[in-house]
Amino acid sequence: MNGSTQKRVYIETYGCQMNEHDSEQILRLLERSHYIETKNAREADLVLINTCSVREKPEHKVYSALGRFKKLKEEKGTIIGVAGCVAQQEGEKLLDRIPFLDMVIGTQAIPWLPQYLQKIEVSGQRVCETDFDPEGRYLTSLLPQEPVRQVKSYVTIMQGCNHFCSFCIVPYVRGREKSRASQDIIEEIKHLARLGVKEVCLLGQNVNGYGKGLAEEISFSKLLGRINQAEGIERIRFTTSHPKDLSEELIETFSNFKKVCEHIHLPFQSGSNKVLKSMRRGYTKEVYLDKIDRLKKVCPSIAITADVIVGFPGEEEEDFQETLDLMERVRFDDLYSFKYSPRKGTRASQFEDRIEECVKQDRLSILQRFQKEMSFQKNQALGGSVEEVLVEGRSKQSDQDMSGRTRSNKIVNFEGISDLVGKLLHVRINKAYAHSLRGEILTD
Ligand code: SAM
Ligand code: SF4
Repeated sequence: MNGSTQKRVYIETYGCQMNEHDSEQILRLLERSHYIETKNAREADLVLINTCSVREKPEHKVYSALGRFKKLKEEKGTIIGVAGCVAQQEGEKLLDRIPFLDMVIGTQAIPWLPQYLQKIEVSGQRVCETDFDPEGRYLTSLLPQEPVRQVKSYVTIMQGCNHFCSFCIVPYVRGREKSRASQDIIEEIKHLARLGVKEVCLLGQNVNGYGKGLAEEISFSKLLGRINQAEGIERIRFTTSHPKDLSEELIETFSNFKKVCEHIHLPFQSGSNKVLKSMRRGYTKEVYLDKIDRLKKVCPSIAITADVIVGFPGEEEEDFQETLDLMERVRFDDLYSFKYSPRKGTRASQFEDRIEECVKQDRLSILQRFQKEMSFQKNQALGGSVEEVLVEGRSKQSDQDMSGRTRSNKIVNFEGISDLVGKLLHVRINKAYAHSLRGEILTD
């Protein structure tokens, strides 16, 4: 290709795995329009911010990031765009508020990004696209053309959500639940395997709901069964599962399908039935604990992680205590914990019995200290054991070390060389920390 037509894109990503995956798709799309990625915004022709609006904090980051890029626009005429959930939520209002912004791209408009970009480049017209696409074309993945550097890859199996939990913005910014045809998913996974990917993580807001609305008769467990047969793929993960829809059939997959890793992320949000009801989660603490018992029975070594919210409107001290009790019962391997953040347009944002910020903060600190100790103890229990580790790359801590994950998704650092990337090794665990393990390779 002629070097003079080559342009550079800088992309900043906030939020969940879905956004990370969308950013990968954006980069692949733009490659076809002669854009290559740069990690330095100053040398970019296009700056994109892929945003998250699940809580207030990441949403605010968007505005401070835009403030940083204003200068680039003034000095170099860089094209500036906002994609993702804030783009979807704010639409034209973002263009009004930020005069130097060129482009607002909603969550289902990504496939048409090159056309919008061309419009801006040719006519200088500002673009705002936030329509939902009923045909689901946004679900089509762009496949990488060359061997990929990562050993693991996300694969979208569905988007959107029908649940409308009272605190959550997702159904408003990602639209209703829509599943992707199983054949497309399988083809993508086979393609990734041919390019060297060993582990796939299937993405959806509620993967247990996979298959609804498709012409074919397929459940999420059946899809897992088919992926389990894909040659070259060694490990399968998925996120997120909703406790309400976690079926017995899916629980059984942990013992039926060898490649399905022994880890489930099963957000519980609160341990109080009163709070769960007002969150509209559709299950009780007892139902949640029962599913955990079933999972542990079917797969005794399963690692369990979850999301939890503290300070939801109306959460009293005894409700918070019930959340701690549930944690004690389950003994999670890790927990993503959040202070409740009111989101405009959701039901809970209208609730009046708000919890003071300092109380939310105290509860979060107590919960996080408790979890840190529990995560450490769970990791310590692995001392002396031999774990299968998929080597992902160099360790962030030391140049001498490599890093990988166990089937239970725990990070393990160990001495080794770069040639090991992509290999499945047996590693003996020697030392435990709260968020990682240290070990040594066994040479059989
Ligand atoms: N679909 C997943 C589920 O049902 O559990 C979660 C999706 S959401 C992007 C990720 C997590 O963000 C949620 O599990 C919840 O703990 C947290 N979250 C969502 N809305 C929130 C809010 N308004 N305030 C605080 N945390 C929130
Ligand atoms: Fe949000 Fe609830 Fe849907 Fe999860 S299930 S995305 S928390 S509305």
